[in-house]
Amino acid sequence: MYYGFDMGGTKIELAVFDEEMNQVWIKRHPTPKNNYDDLLCVFVELVKEADERFNTQGSIGIGIPGIPNVSNGTVFTTNVPSAKGKPLAADLTKMLNRPVKISNDANCFALSEAYAPVFKKYRSVLGLILGTGVGGGLIIDGKPVTGHNGITAEIGHLRITLDMLTILGMDIPKRQCGCGHIGCAETYLSGEGFEWLFNHFYHLSLSAQAIVALYRQGDAHATEHVERYTSLLASYLGNILTLFDTELVVIGGGLSNFDELYTLLPQKLPLYIYSIATLPQIEKARYGDSGGVRGAAFLHLGSPA
Ligand SMILES: [Zn+2]
Repeated sequence: MYYGFDMGGTKIELAVFDEEMNQVWIKRHPTPKNNYDDLLCVFVELVKEADERFNTQGSIGIGIPGIPNVSNGTVFTTNVPSAKGKPLAADLTKMLNRPVKISNDANCFALSEAYAPVFKKYRSVLGLILGTGVGGGLIIDGKPVTGHNGITAEIGHLRITLDMLTILGMDIPKRQCGCGHIGCAETYLSGEGFEWLFNHFYHLSLSAQAIVALYRQGDAHATEHVERYTSLLASYLGNILTLFDTELVVIGGGLSNFDELYTLLPQKLPLYIYSIATLPQIEKARYGDSGGVRGAAFLHLGSPA
């Protein structure tokens, strides 16, 4: 059995998967905010309950809203103060008597999709989350690539490029990102960025859903906006693919429900990618919000094939 945890700011969720990767049980517990021992206790109790329930010792993976430190295993996360700077994986490995793996929640999202039955045939997968922010995860042969600092595919924090400035206009305000830098791509490409761009150009504060609804009605501003946004996203993705060259791109997050992306992006990508490239398959996430626990559960696996 595979146990996958999603550690969020408000709740810790455990989902148990059988050998065929079907989810067979799920349980949630509020996240202890400030006490690390209490936090460890929640993990231990949930694992014990699952072990007893299924009469087994499942493997354990944890997805966190942050970055595990590659060199010493401590956790960098701002959403869960009780875990900040703590060696969560090492402590739980000792307490639960089995290896515990931790990964960034965007990596878990990408891993969950890489193990989707329809996507298993792809050896290289880029998970792209267009949500409140922009996140990413790179999966090669069924494993997340984490890199020297654990920041591989933290693509929301790529800098905006000359192409993007050309599309947006050189005088576009340079927005402050949550990471502290100015001009990160996610400030224009996230769901929030999508709404900000519409407001910037048309002085109208609307939700992404409302903008998409206007687009589908043929509204001129919304049409121009979607044209601009998809060009921006295509140029951004073209650069990312020049680095990673994956066979599959899976999009998650709120904007992944904007179905026109899956026809507009392949139309525009050739303008921004090396001319000999064949385009990757671009697909909507199959597991969406449940991807965190699912991907975490599969952190111990090797190859999806
Ligand atoms: Zn940033």
